[in-house]
Amino acid sequence: MFLKLILIIIYAVSIDYSFTELVHPYATITTIIALCLLNINYRIIYCYSVIILGFIASIYLPLQILYGTPNIGMIISLAYTTLDEAHEFITNIPIIYVLLAILLLSYSIFIATLKLNYATSIHTKRILLGFIVLMLISILLCIKFNKRFIFSPFLYFSENMYKTTASAYQEQKRIQQLTSKPDTWDDVDIKDNGYDTYILVIGESVRRDFIHALGFKINNTPFMDDSNGVLYQNYFSAGPNTPISLLHSLAAIGRDGPIVNNNIISLANKANIYSYWISNQGSLGLSDTPIAALGHYAKEHVFLRKGDFEFGHSKDSDMLPYIESALASNHAKKLIVVHLIGSHPDFCARTDGHFESFFMSKSVSCYVQSIKNTDLLLKKIVDLANTSKSKWRMIYMPDHGLRFISKNTPIATLAHSDQYVEDYNVPFFMTSYDAKKHVVNRKYYTGINFLSLFVNWTGVSIKSVNRNLCNPLMGSCSFDSMYAYDINDQEFNLRVLYND
Ligand SMILES: [Zn+2]
Repeated sequence: MFLKLILIIIYAVSIDYSFTELVHPYATITTIIALCLLNINYRIIYCYSVIILGFIASIYLPLQILYGTPNIGMIISLAYTTLDEAHEFITNIPIIYVLLAILLLSYSIFIATLKLNYATSIHTKRILLGFIVLMLISILLCIKFNKRFIFSPFLYFSENMYKTTASAYQEQKRIQQLTSKPDTWDDVDIKDNGYDTYILVIGESVRRDFIHALGFKINNTPFMDDSNGVLYQNYFSAGPNTPISLLHSLAAIGRDGPIVNNNIISLANKANIYSYWISNQGSLGLSDTPIAALGHYAKEHVFLRKGDFEFGHSKDSDMLPYIESALASNHAKKLIVVHLIGSHPDFCARTDGHFESFFMSKSVSCYVQSIKNTDLLLKKIVDLANTSKSKWRMIYMPDHGLRFISKNTPIATLAHSDQYVEDYNVPFFMTSYDAKKHVVNRKYYTGINFLSLFVNWTGVSIKSVNRNLCNPLMGSCSFDSMYAYDINDQEFNLRVLYND
């Protein structure tokens, strides 16, 4: 009896870990009591419950270890994930976590066969009834006082899933509605700042500490090492994954979130800067990811990965011909946005399994190589821009970082997450045809204010910029709190997060 009870307790702790990471450990008591009461009174219900809960917990276990309990960022990225990315995501889960999930499922089946040696009686049935009533009252009280279901890990998990999915859905609808609307930029003007071509290269999943030009030990950034321009060491992306980060960088931010129709492309269009969006990331049509929707604002847009079902192997370098022809076009001013697949997991799929130097594990070595490939691509873009004889400026900005999994082991890899500084700290590089020196800027900046930088970078002036750049989370919205950095007689305003 005692041993069986211990086994059930181990099961309850395991599934509750998968559901809530045991942030409220005492709540596991309710799981244990429920299981014991069902085992004694209704064996069939007990068996089904144990197997169903064990099944859900096993499926979620690898995600819990990798990403924690469900949150809106996770659901939003899931909603916008293409099959291609989903395939890479699944193959990127370390095998050890898959084995743990199988172990939990097998253990659940074993626990379902256990029978506690305690006779059913009218008393045990009454205790079960009392327990159910207590749970129902707790649920009702939680709903009434708007509290979380922390008394039961499974209910807490289900509630989390439901609420995050509902708010992600609402946010998606809000964004879709906005993208069907014209922009509301008003009083847009542009002054000549000596440049005619603005190249914005948006990278993917690059951690700052993996950049040789900013201290990483393997030389994977020969271009950024030697190029003139400003390399920002403490730039933090506006979010931990592509949709959240880019929406909060490339669009104006209002009280309810990004005002998607007021974005850098619609602003460029209004300022008579001819816009191109060249992407090696997915587009499924008009109602697809909000980032692809931004791309559709461009006068000309190209998406190399068109559909959900294309397990495409398009390389970032496949975009070079499109970039070249955009550079060759004769518009007085132009903005060329290049959206890379860059270092998106699975890294070895990015590099065809190739890497020049081994670092920590095969996966991390491919990651290091993918950054080198991006650095080389930047060099090629700059070469094309120089050949085009344009007066160009370029920004390279990864959308977010990643965090380590199983660091310093042969199975080490990196994955999206939102809890670590490395998820946000990315390199940020600004250069131009006339940049005179190589500068490393160590001050702190946030991608949330990218739009204010964009305005200064392109020479666009707009009356509503103060209001639209306002982010209630960041406190004051006035330009007084901006930091002006002077390079090559041009002023770049980025808001200071902290003073160093
Ligand atoms: Zn991303």
